[in-house]
Amino acid sequence: MAKTLFQKIIDREIPAEIVYEDERCLAFHDVQPQAPTHVLLIPKKPIESIDRIAEEDADLLGHLWLTIGKLASELQLAGGYRVVINCGDDGGQTVDHLHFHILGGRAMTWPPG
Ligand code: AMP
Repeated sequence: MAKTLFQKIIDREIPAEIVYEDERCLAFHDVQPQAPTHVLLIPKKPIESIDRIAEEDADLLGHLWLTIGKLASELQLAGGYRVVINCGDDGGQTVDHLHFHILGGRAMTWPPG
């Protein structure tokens, strides 16, 4: 299967503004930010979407959520922030590699578009 855009970022074949990395995940600024702070957090394991998360990924998912909290602190989002995961066509997913959008730096509106 062809590498996704995010796999190419993990493999350093495409540049990205990386803000955090450990052995299991990578975070970088979104190239088309929808808020003053818009960071994407991805697992290094190539999980296609929420629908492809397996039981064996439970620990990895816990790690990702804990990392989001740490990143929010480092990104100075004490005023609050939003975490978004788009899934599938109707969800607006455009890259088939699980990713968390971390959005902050402004007040969010509801409902989302
Ligand atoms: P989604 O639409 O939920 O699949 O989100 C994909 C996100 O990837 C979008 O917000 C894009 O702006 C972002 N994106 C696309 N290409 C890049 C890139 N080269 N570096 C950083 N973010 C990107």
